[in-house]
Amino acid sequence: MNNVKVLLTSTSFQDTPGQHHDLLAQTGYTVERLRGPLSKQEMLEQVASYDALLCGDDVIDREVIDVGRTGRLKVISKYGVGLDKLDAAYARSVGIPTTNCPGVNHTTVAEHVMALLLAYNRNIHLHSQETRNNEWKRYTGNEIRGSVLGIIGFGAIGRAVATLAQAFGCFIHYYDPFTPKSATMEASIEQHGELGSLLAVSDLLTLHIPLNDQTRGLVDRHFLNQMKKGSLLVNTSRGEIVNNTALIEALDVGHLRGYLCDVLEHEPMLPNHPLAHRTDVMITPHIGSRTHQSVVRQGSMAVENLVASFHSLGLQRS
Ligand code: NAD
Repeated sequence: MNNVKVLLTSTSFQDTPGQHHDLLAQTGYTVERLRGPLSKQEMLEQVASYDALLCGDDVIDREVIDVGRTGRLKVISKYGVGLDKLDAAYARSVGIPTTNCPGVNHTTVAEHVMALLLAYNRNIHLHSQETRNNEWKRYTGNEIRGSVLGIIGFGAIGRAVATLAQAFGCFIHYYDPFTPKSATMEASIEQHGELGSLLAVSDLLTLHIPLNDQTRGLVDRHFLNQMKKGSLLVNTSRGEIVNNTALIEALDVGHLRGYLCDVLEHEPMLPNHPLAHRTDVMITPHIGSRTHQSVVRQGSMAVENLVASFHSLGLQRS
């Protein structure tokens, strides 16, 4: 197949050096680059011109896919795991092979969760800012050893967090109705059959669930009220899982000790975001899976998936 045109939008892929660039070059495809994530309107304008999308968190819904089908679109390869912006089921149902990259970024995201927890508990976000300003204020921090770490969603990332947090002396509890405790899981890991009972015992709570119709807005006033007073919430999943109005209320009254997140309901962060200047909130700009090691793994997998999908369609490079 001659003249395969690929639209690459993932900025993680583009901005991180490594062998994934060589792999992509070796395909011989013509690659055009845009800085994602692209909005629906931007995708609608672009999608029909390409045989393949090597995408990040761009909006690729039914309408975008249908417009793509009227043009050249044949294959979608998502760089990353979350499929909340990409209607993969629909794409596959209309004969467009669609892949993502499970199983390659869980360690990196889990390390980021630990980094957020340790940084916040030792006030590193405040101390580093103040020493930059030539100040020498010292705050008393907290150990995480001995804390109950509640994990919602015990998939690849949730389990990797459990492994790391156990090494720090945390007690691991989880809620995941789709992942029953198996014989190979450590006896000390406690599964909860009800979400409320996990919320009641967790000193630290971390979300590792996909964004879908069941989880959108899951962290609302009712959820937060059930959380243990003085607990911390970590969100590296998706911003839309948390209701910001309810979150701010819980922070304002001190029911929640802090909110540590890597994701927002709108990315990049909009100006004057209500969470941006709070000292009880730490925000990182969706870099949970952006390490030199993980980007190369994800980028290589995304390219290999792209090539395999063309092969599965019987369309190979000439
Ligand atoms: P995974 O599919 O391996 O695990 C998700 C787990 O959530 C599964 O075990 C599933 O049974 C469980 N689950 C689903 N709905 C649930 C619910 N309502 N309540 C409790 N459990 C539920 O996925 P993963 O690789 O662990 O990734 C989880 C999410 O993390 C992704 O969907 C993505 O949104 C996010 N993510 C973020 C980054 C980042 O850079 N911040 C990187 C990778 C993934």
